[in-house]
Amino acid sequence: MSYTEIALFSCPNQSFDYAIPKDLAVEVGDYVEVPFRKSTASGYVVRKKENSAFAKARPIFACDQKRRLPPELLDLARWMAQYYCTPLSKVVLGMIPSSVTKKVEEKPEIEFYLLQTKESTRQEICQLRTKFPKRGELLERFLQRSTWKASELSQYRSQIATLYKKKWIGKRTLFSIEERMQNQEYFLTTEKQLTEEQATACKSITSGLDRGTFQVFLLHGVTGSGKTELYLQSAKRARALGKDVLVLVPEVALTSQLIEKFRSRFAEPIGVIHHQRSLKEKSADWKKIQEGSLHIVLGARSAVFAPLKNIGLIIVDEEHDSSYKQSEEMPTYHARDIAIKRGSQIGASVVLGSATPSLESYYKATRSKYTLLSLTKRATASSLAPVKIIDMGKEYEKAGGFTHFSAELLEGIKKRRVKGEQTLLFFNRRGYRTARICTKCSKPLCCPFCDLALTLHKKEERLRCHLCHFQMPSPRKCPYCGAVDEAKYQGFGTEHIERSLQALLPEIRTLRMDRDTTRKKGAHEALFRAFRSGKADVLIGTQMIAKGFHFPSVTLVGVLHPEKALFLPDFRAPEFVFQLITQVAGRAGREELSGEVLIQTHLPKDPLLHLAKEQQFLPFYAKEIAGREDFTYPPFSRMIKVVLSSPNPAELRRAAKSLHFSFEKVLREDSVYPITEPHHAKVAGRFRLHILLRTKNIGKTTAHLKALVEALETPRSLRILVDVDCISIL
Ligand code: ADP
Ligand code: ZN
Repeated sequence: MSYTEIALFSCPNQSFDYAIPKDLAVEVGDYVEVPFRKSTASGYVVRKKENSAFAKARPIFACDQKRRLPPELLDLARWMAQYYCTPLSKVVLGMIPSSVTKKVEEKPEIEFYLLQTKESTRQEICQLRTKFPKRGELLERFLQRSTWKASELSQYRSQIATLYKKKWIGKRTLFSIEERMQNQEYFLTTEKQLTEEQATACKSITSGLDRGTFQVFLLHGVTGSGKTELYLQSAKRARALGKDVLVLVPEVALTSQLIEKFRSRFAEPIGVIHHQRSLKEKSADWKKIQEGSLHIVLGARSAVFAPLKNIGLIIVDEEHDSSYKQSEEMPTYHARDIAIKRGSQIGASVVLGSATPSLESYYKATRSKYTLLSLTKRATASSLAPVKIIDMGKEYEKAGGFTHFSAELLEGIKKRRVKGEQTLLFFNRRGYRTARICTKCSKPLCCPFCDLALTLHKKEERLRCHLCHFQMPSPRKCPYCGAVDEAKYQGFGTEHIERSLQALLPEIRTLRMDRDTTRKKGAHEALFRAFRSGKADVLIGTQMIAKGFHFPSVTLVGVLHPEKALFLPDFRAPEFVFQLITQVAGRAGREELSGEVLIQTHLPKDPLLHLAKEQQFLPFYAKEIAGREDFTYPPFSRMIKVVLSSPNPAELRRAAKSLHFSFEKVLREDSVYPITEPHHAKVAGRFRLHILLRTKNIGKTTAHLKALVEALETPRSLRILVDVDCISIL
C-alpha cells in the first residue's frame, strides 16, 4: 500500500495523509473523498509517497479521475507555494472555485428566442420607437443576441407577453445545466481589415503561435487603437491551430463588451468564469472546461487557473490593473505573473495588453524579455481627445466660493445635452460627505471597529464604514465629548457631486455608478445599458467608469481632482494617477464624434498631470523608471509586505518584534524596513502592523521567509499574511 497527501476543502492550511486502497488507482491531482474526523471530506491529492509518518493513515473512499487537475497546474501550484510562502494544500484548493465542490440543484428555466429575421426586426423597431419604446428596446436586445433567459428580462414582463403573442419570439424550457449553457447564439460579426500597425503586431503574435514556443508580447496601444481586434484575431489563429485560449480581464462585470465581442466572433461556445454568476453556471462551465468541451475561456483573476488542457494563447487585458493581484489573502498571487509562469511551463504565447503598461512590464520589454508591440494611433478616424487642465483655485474666485464644477465644465455639460451627446464625470470617492466632525472636540466620528472616519450616505441617511460593514444613523450626540447637535461635515463623494449637479442644472438627467449603486447582481449591466441607451446626460462614477466601457455618444469627460491620490506616500502613486487619467480620458469621443477632456485640479502646474494631459506614456515612463532606479524600487528590486494582525495590540507588537528580529538576523542581504503602522492601523476589529522587505534575490528570500514565518510561535488569534510583490506599501 502506498500513501498520499491530500488537501481538504474543510481544512485547507495543511495536507493530510491517507492510504491508497488496492482497488483504487489514485494519481496526483485526483479529486477524492475521504473519512475525516467523524464524517467525510473531499479534496485533491497533492503528493504520493511510499511511507507515512502517521501509523493510522486511513484509506481513501472514492476517487473521481474525471475531475483530475492537469499535471501542469500542479507544477504551477508547487511553484506558487514556494514563491508566495503558502502551504501547497491552500494553493491547490484556491485554484478551484468553491462552487465546483458544492452540489447544485437544477431547476428548469424559461428561455425566449427570436423568431423573425434580423431585417424585419429592425424595421419593426423603427415603427415601435415612438409608440412603444420599451417594446422596441426589448427587440433591440434580441438583435444583439437571439436568446435571452426569462430571468434576464424581468423588467420587460408585459412586453415579452406581447411579443410572444405576436409570434415575434418563441419560448422554450431548459431543464439541464447543459441546455442552459448553450445560450450563446450571437449573431456573428466579421473580422476587421487591420490597420498597418495592427497588421504588424498581429503578424508577430501569430508567428509566435505558429512556432508554439513560450513568448511574452507587450501590446502597448493607446485607448481605441484596436487591441481587442488583435485579441480576437490572435485567438482565431490559436483555435485554427487546435489550441485553447484563455482571456483574462480585470473585472468581468466591467468588461461585458469584450465578452460580447468574443461571443459574436466565434461560433463555438465561450466559457465565462465570473463571481457574479450563479453557482450552478460557474460549476457547469468549470466542468465543461475540465471535460475538454470549452476551448475559449474568459474570466477575471482566478480564471488564470482554468483547467484548459491545451493552452496556446493567454491574453491579459489591461495588464497594469491592480485587481489582478490578490492582496488580502494567501497566496497573494498576481494573475498576470501567473499567466506568464503558466505560459512558460506549457510553451504558450502570452499577450499583455494596455494603454498604460505597468512599469514592471514595460521595463522588461525594453530589456527584450518581452516583445514590444506598439499601436500609436486610433483604429478609427477619431483622434485622441484633447485634454485641458483647469485651475480650481481660480474657479473658486470666479464663483465667489466653493464649487464642484468649473464654468467650462458646466457649459460643456449643457452644450452636450442640447446636442444629444453625453458626459462622464469621474471622482474617486463614493458617498455624500466623507467625514462627520464634532465642532466642540474636533474629532471625526470613526468606525468603532476600524481606523477610519465614517462616510455619510445621504440617500440612506446613514454613516457607513468603507472598510467593514458597520453603519449607523448620524447621532445627535458626539460619542467622544458628549456635545449635542455640534456636527459638521467635510469632504465629498460622488453622491454629493450628483446632487450638486442636479441642483445647479435641474434639466440634466444623471446616473451614478460606484460601489453603492452596483451592489446588486447585474446592476453594472443595467446602469451601463441605461446610460448607453441615452437614459441620462451625465454618468458620475468612481474608477469603475474608467475601465473598458465604450459609450459612443460620450464627448466630454470631466476628471475631478485626480491629484488627490498623489498625496498617498506610496512610490506607485504617480503611476496610479497617470493610468487613471489616461483610462478615463480614453472614454471620450471614441467614434465619429470628437471628444474633450477637462481635468479640474488644485495642482494645475503638477508635471505629472501635464504628462497625463499629453497622454505621453514614454516621457512618463522615462521619468518614473529613473526614480525607481535611484531608490531601488521595483522593477529594480522586489518588495514583500508581511502583514501581522490581531485583536490584541500587545500580542501583535510582541509577534512583530520577534519576527522582525529574526528577519534582520537571517535576511542579511535584503533591506528589512522597521515595523510600521499601516494606513489603516485597525480593520474590522483587528489591529495591524507591517514589515516591509526589499530584495534582489526573491527566490532565496521567500524560501527563508516561509521557514521563519512557520517557525514563529504565535497565539491562535494572530494572523500573518505574506504579500509578495505587494502593489501598495501602505
Ligand atoms: P482598444 O481595445 O485598443 O481600446 P478597441 O479594440 O475597442 O480598442 O477598438 C476601438 C474601436 O475601433 C472599436 O469600435 C473597434 O471596432 C474599432 N476598430 C478596431 N480595429 C479596427 C480596424 N482595423 N478597422 C476599423 N475599425 C477598427
Ligand atoms: Zn469599520
